[in-house]
Amino acid sequence: MSKKDYYEILGVSKDATQDDIKKAYRKLIKKWHPDLHKDNKKDAEVKFKEISEAYEVLSDTEKRAMYDRYGFVGDQVPPSYRAAQGAAGGSPFDDFFGGSGGFGGFEDIFDMFFGGSRSGRGQRVSQGNRGQKGQDIAVNIRINLSDTITGVEKEIEYERYHKCEACNGTGAKDGTSFKTCPDCGGRGAVVQESHTFFGNIQTTTTCPRCGGKGRIIEQRCPKCNGAGRYKEKKKIKIKVPAGATNGLKLRVAGAGHGGTGQGNDGDLYVIVSILTPPDLVRKGKHIYSEVTVDYLQAILGAEIDINTVEGPIKYKLKGGVQPGEQIRIKGKGVPDLRTGLRGDQYVKLNVELPKKLSRKEKKLLTEVAENSGVKVS
Ligand SMILES: [Zn+2]
Ligand SMILES: [Zn+2]
Repeated sequence: MSKKDYYEILGVSKDATQDDIKKAYRKLIKKWHPDLHKDNKKDAEVKFKEISEAYEVLSDTEKRAMYDRYGFVGDQVPPSYRAAQGAAGGSPFDDFFGGSGGFGGFEDIFDMFFGGSRSGRGQRVSQGNRGQKGQDIAVNIRINLSDTITGVEKEIEYERYHKCEACNGTGAKDGTSFKTCPDCGGRGAVVQESHTFFGNIQTTTTCPRCGGKGRIIEQRCPKCNGAGRYKEKKKIKIKVPAGATNGLKLRVAGAGHGGTGQGNDGDLYVIVSILTPPDLVRKGKHIYSEVTVDYLQAILGAEIDINTVEGPIKYKLKGGVQPGEQIRIKGKGVPDLRTGLRGDQYVKLNVELPKKLSRKEKKLLTEVAENSGVKVS
């Protein structure tokens, strides 16, 4: 993931209005259109793409808020969370704790992270005895849409590898039980000779026995059995902010896997998914829904029930509304993640007309029609 400064790309300040952003975008997109740069089309294309990407994020208030806060947006997620989301079972919004039976699902993630760091690309060689930072962990939590109004505190239980205190993460008994690696004599590297068509070639490679450390464990730490870390269950409380959006990532520094040796602990990323009632649609801070009323209510007005984020409310519908008309209920949206200001709810009115009329209804309506001079059969 490359971290780009979208504001810089568009040449606008951090507090630029949507209008400023649009203007800057239009100007730049004209300037950098690849068709205008026949000589260096490639550069222009890169620039063009960059500008479009910056605009896509900054022109969307929700994405912009996320970018301002976390420095990345949506699926521009570091590979480590993506891996975790995949391991948690397909959808990134799958409930981490449900379905697969409690803690069972954790194994995959642990193995993926732990295995990943072990089978790294020779990073340990340069890390030497100083150790490595622990891997990050991603967990998914679900909250209700109504929780986004004030924010909510959630308790999360998960498993992580904890750096072993008994050996200070070294895996050696008391953290001191080492001996010089007999294979490399402490150099951490071995010379290998291979016979080829061109003659004998000598290559220096990392010592496979000690992994480049130059020393090996003499007696394993009994607490962690030489791993330097052990699994533990951890509970933490996390505050999900008001206005939280689907896919929002909250970072808890140092709550990930323990590092090895002197390495720091990794971080925990809590990925929020939001359960939205099926009849409500959230777009940014606004809520959209539909309600069906009887034609007589539409004509004469009525008190109707409308479902909102906080549950059903009574709404005084005035007479004379038209089918498809949208009514706005102020302040019944959800808060904006950045400003905290609540949006509105927009309700589309569907008007139901009767398919059959009773004899009496027919008589009365015919009278109404005659009275208004409307021709009916
Ligand atoms: Zn230990
Ligand atoms: Zn060695």
